Formats: sequence, structure tokens, C-alpha cells
Amino acid sequence: MAQFDQYFLSPDKQAGDSEPPPHERERYRLLLVDDEPNVLSALRRTFQRENYEVHCAASAEEALALVNARHVHLMITDFKMPGMNGADLLREVREISPDTMRIMLTGHADTQAVMTAINEGAVYRFILKPWNDDDLRVTVALALEQYELREKNRNLEKKTSQQQKDLEVFRRMNQQQRSQLALMLHKHGVINRQQVQELYKIQQARKVSTIRLLLEKEWIAPEKLYRLLRDELLFDEVSLAEFAADPEALDLIPVDVCQGQLLLPLRVRGRRLVLAMADPLNQPLIEELSFAIGLKIEPVLVRAEELEERLAQLFGESSESLGELEAVFDANDPADTIELVIEDDDSDVDLERLLSDTQQPSAVRVVNALIMEGLRLGASDIHIHPRTNVVVVRYRIDGVLQDKIRIPSTLQMSIVSRIKVMAELDIAERRRPQDGRLTVKTPMKIVDLRLSTLPTLNGEKIVMRVLDRNASIKNIEQLKLSELNRQRLLNVITRPQGIILATGPTGSGKTTTLYAMLQHQATPEKNYVTIEDPVEFYMDMAGQVPVREKVGLDFASVLKAILRQDPDVILLGEIRDRETAEVAFHAAMTGHMVYSTLHTNSAIASIARLLDLGLKPYVVAYGLECIIAQRLVRRLCPHCCEPREPDPGIRELLGVAFSSPGLQDYTAAGCDRCHHQGFSGRVALHEVLTVTETMRHVIASGGSVHEMVEQAERDGLVTLAADARYRVEAGETSLAEILRVLGSQIDI
Ligand SMILES: [Zn+2]
Repeated sequence: MAQFDQYFLSPDKQAGDSEPPPHERERYRLLLVDDEPNVLSALRRTFQRENYEVHCAASAEEALALVNARHVHLMITDFKMPGMNGADLLREVREISPDTMRIMLTGHADTQAVMTAINEGAVYRFILKPWNDDDLRVTVALALEQYELREKNRNLEKKTSQQQKDLEVFRRMNQQQRSQLALMLHKHGVINRQQVQELYKIQQARKVSTIRLLLEKEWIAPEKLYRLLRDELLFDEVSLAEFAADPEALDLIPVDVCQGQLLLPLRVRGRRLVLAMADPLNQPLIEELSFAIGLKIEPVLVRAEELEERLAQLFGESSESLGELEAVFDANDPADTIELVIEDDDSDVDLERLLSDTQQPSAVRVVNALIMEGLRLGASDIHIHPRTNVVVVRYRIDGVLQDKIRIPSTLQMSIVSRIKVMAELDIAERRRPQDGRLTVKTPMKIVDLRLSTLPTLNGEKIVMRVLDRNASIKNIEQLKLSELNRQRLLNVITRPQGIILATGPTGSGKTTTLYAMLQHQATPEKNYVTIEDPVEFYMDMAGQVPVREKVGLDFASVLKAILRQDPDVILLGEIRDRETAEVAFHAAMTGHMVYSTLHTNSAIASIARLLDLGLKPYVVAYGLECIIAQRLVRRLCPHCCEPREPDPGIRELLGVAFSSPGLQDYTAAGCDRCHHQGFSGRVALHEVLTVTETMRHVIASGGSVHEMVEQAERDGLVTLAADARYRVEAGETSLAEILRVLGSQIDI
């Protein structure tokens, strides 16, 4: 927004009639509607510490009177009320005051009516009773943010309806301008005919200005170019140092046009704009600019470097102002705030056509609401489960599935179709499982959903896994390794080359661990690349490449291509075949640090798996630096956890690591803080095997798994089970939970 302001608001800003400073802004007016006085006062209490002006109404009729009397920014209403119900109330409010953000509180039983209201766009959000105060506060804050964004949008749209048209013109400007400059240089024998042709050819493929391209190609020294233009063409030359930045002039041309074309508006004189240009021979551009801003343009010649320097000073290194503008104008109806992001490849799917095939467009709103609600609750998975008479939406929160929403079966087909369309699946195929993914953009974040369908007796069941793109990378301390394991990891990541593997079942936190290690040693002097399916964390410093097996981009082929890009550190999502394993190990033995994952049960099992894939023992022995096996177990709620005697049966099943005397077990009965689950959050168990010289020898000489296990013991390996015992002793988790995750550790 800041950049946007820069361009279009400044004359008004100077006149003092744009947005008032925050303290002068009127407070947001909230209207709470419920027929039950105690609910009403609970709602009021929730907001008492916020700086809102809160009004209450005990009935829909009373609420309508208030809305008619004064503008309300946001309202929350109960559904079930004597007289007019919440859904009808919100419909009426939408008529009277379309800007008001409308939120409905509802119980499970009323879903049908709520869904109807959502479908009609009368409800912005629904919140299930009983609500959580923090959730409600956050929802309201987000809704008001949305309100403000829309209001700003409306103002901007009003102010800039003319400029919007100009935007189109400006956008074209960064594209097809063909300056006479190349021909002039050719005439002077500076560049030859082939070079001119090459320039034109590049400009056909890539939108880049002639001046930029010439400088990039280094076919002529900037100083020589400057002198040629000055001497031959008699342009006025100026030194930028003589001109202070003039906001009025700067507002006239978007910054990316300035940067793309190397120009800078200097001053408005009457009906003329003095425009500094590195290439004043670009007559078509001058004409288009003149048309767009409605002023005659008086070009003056300035050295390219000088312009570049001043542009960087004024605007920073790069700019996305046009892109940002579009993003602002795109944020429209809040009910449609989930926006489907279509990836460029796979463009042969005609989404419009597919969409028009889905029978009920209302499904779009329902699906958006379901996903939004899942994200709001922090669900890791969203299940859409058809039962006999109803479709149940279940969210997995903190590892536990909970039924949250019931949708009438009549909507089942259209919801399933809508989701399949979003994920570009075959909507006609209902008898075979399918999988796919989609990216959704909400005002709060961008998430990827990995989705699979499964035909059941009652219809297709859909499970969506939420991959939060904004999930932040943890640091090594947050992994909570034991001191010994932590030292081992810190030691191994300083090595210049080799492979570090994380292993364990799906969802055991392997990628989290690898990213923490990657981030820990990240320095700008190295080239980092990640290859994943899909990208799980976003890391500024790394080039991140998604694998698209559908279009033939598998791990091995992407990795080979990456190796030609001079990487230092590579994170490879997964090694699952011989080819990928070979390329990865080759990279690791030729000066690259490679991080990857394998699906195996333990560190030693990973070595066996690599040999099974067909790698030579010496390659494994000398490429491998470290293997981290890990699991996630639920953490006992610290508020209700208490010691208990270990159950001898469980203890026996857990084997030798748990056999020594003096072991204390813990249990948690559940309390309000842990939603009566007894657990809150999760904790990781680790087994960190660093490959020692002796171990390399054992592997290279074709040693058996048994010999490797013995060597690992001599090297002081702390097994998963042993690490698990520390966690139990520390009261972090229970024997029963360890047994659930690790399974029996004994042979019978
Ligand atoms: Zn608890």
C-alpha cells in the first residue's frame, strides 16, 4: 500500500484530506445480537478490552433499528432467536448496509440454514458455539482488517478510475517499445547487423527495453553510449544532482516503468514534463507516456549509471508496484476471499469450462467456508466424510480428529465436484481414488492443500492435508534434541560435503528437522536449492523448485538440472528410487552438501535400504555423513499431568531400554487447558547416527546389518527407544504413548 500511496495519493495527501491519523479515526462500532442476556454479556466481555464501541441488541428487530440509525462496521448475531432469526437479520442488514461485516454464531443443529445464508453471501463468517474468546477476537480483528481494505479499495477506485485506464497503457509500455537506439548504434558501426537482429529476437521473447538489453550485453561502454547520444543528437544533458526529487513529477509514471526503461520524471513545467532518460531515442515510448499522463514530454539525456543509482535511492533495488496494485484491486468480496491459484503448467485444463459444469455455484461458497474454518482452527487435515444422511466435515487439530460441521447430503455431489475442480481432478471419475493438490490464498496466508479422494459406500470421501506456506522454519534449539544429539547435528552440518538423511514415517517431522539444519548454517556466500513435492517451507535464501511428476519433472531429473546450476547445498525432498539415490550420492561426493529423507524405521535400516536400492557399499560408506531417525509423540498436558506407576505389561513390550529399575511413568486425565485430551502439542524422539570412520569401514567392506548395529552401539548411538525413555522420565510423554508410536520392541 505504501508504494501505491506514493503514486496516486500525494496531491491529496498534501492538501490534507486523505486518511486521518489513527488517533482521529472513529472507533469501530460492533453490534452484538442475542436474545439470551448471559450470552450477550459474555460476548460483550470478550471485547471489553479492545478499543471498539460495542452496542448490544436483544432481538433482530432491535438490531435493525440500530443499524438504520447508525453505521455499524461489524455485527455478530446468534442464529436462533424468537421472531426473526439470525440469517434473515443478516440478509436485511446486507440490504440496508452492505459494508457491514456479518458474522453468525451457530450450533451444529442449524447448519442447513447457515449454509443457505452463506451461499447467498449474507454471512461473512460463521462461528460454532461454544466459541473460544481468542478465536472470536482474532476473527473480528481480521474481519475489520478486511473491512478497512475494502474501504481503502473503494476510495482508491474512486480516485483512480482514470489512472486505472492508464495502468493498461503503462503495462504495455514495458513490453513492445522498440527504440531507434539499436539502429543508430548500427549506423555508427558500434554494433553489427547480427547484433541488431539478436536484440530484436530477445525482445520478442522477453519484455525488456533496448537500453537495458544493450547494457546487459555490454556491447558498448555506458560512457561511450552517453557521448554518442550527446554529441550526435544534441539532446539537452543534465546532471541529476541538480534536481531534487519532485513528488508531483514522480507520481506521474509508475516506478517499474521507470526502472524498466531507465527514466525518471524530474519536473512539471506547465503542460510539459521534463523526463530524464538514458535512451531519448525511444520515440514510441515518449509518445505513449505523453498520451498516458496527458502532458508533453521534454526528454533530457542522463547517464544510465546515474539514473540507475538515483532510481535505487528513490525506490530501492526492485519494485513490484504494478503487481501490488493488481493485488489490491483483486481483493473483493470477503465471501470469495479464498482464491484459487492456478499453476502455470497444466494449462491445458480449461477451468472455466469445468467450473460451468458444476451444477450449483453455491458449492463454491460452501467449500470456501469449510476451508476457511479449517484454517482458522489451525487444522492440519480437513476430512469431508459422507455418512448415510449427512456429510460431516472433520478437522484434525493437534493430531486429533474432531467433527465440526454437518452439511446436508443434498449438497454432497456439488461440494465434491467443486473440490475436484479446484484440484484439477477428473470430476467424472467417482469409482477410483484420485489425488491432487491446490493452492488457496486467503487474506491471512497462502496454503497448499494436498488432497485425496476415496470412493466409499456413501460417496466419495475427501481428505485435504494443509501445508502452510507461511509456516516458519524452526531453529535447531526448537527441535528439542537431547544435548548429545544436538552436539552431533551441530558438528555434522559444518562439513563441506556429504549426505544427511532424515528418516521416519510420513508426518514425523523429517522436513522440519532438515530445514532447521539448512537454516542454521545458511550464509549468503553459498547457493542453496531445495527440490520438493510440494515445497513445505519457504526459505528466502534458497532457490526452491517444486517437483511435478505429472509433467515429467521427477526428483532425479530436477536434481540433475540443479547440479548444473552450481549449488552448494541441496535439499532433496525424498530419495525413493535408485536413480535419485545415485545422483544424490554422486553430488554428495563431488563437493555438495545434500539433505534428504527416506521412509525407513531406523538409522541402520536406512543404510540397508540404500544398499537395497543398488548403491555400491563404498558409495554409501563415503557419501553418508549422518542419519536422523525420528518420531512425533503427543506431549502430556503440563497442567493436568501426574506421576503414576509404570504398567509392567507395557514396560515389557517396550523392551530393554525400559527394563532398568526406577522408571517413573506419567498420565494426564485432561483439563480445560488441553480440551480434556490430556495432551497438548507434540514432542520429537530422535536417533542421530553420525557415520564414524570405523562405521565407514564396516559398510564399505560389506558388513552385515548386525555388524553395523554393533558398531553404532560402540559409537554411542542413542536409539529411538532410549531417547523415548528420557522423554518419559522428563514427564513429557507416557509409556502408553511411546508404545502407540514405536510399537512393541521385543520379539516373541
Ligand atoms: Zn490438561
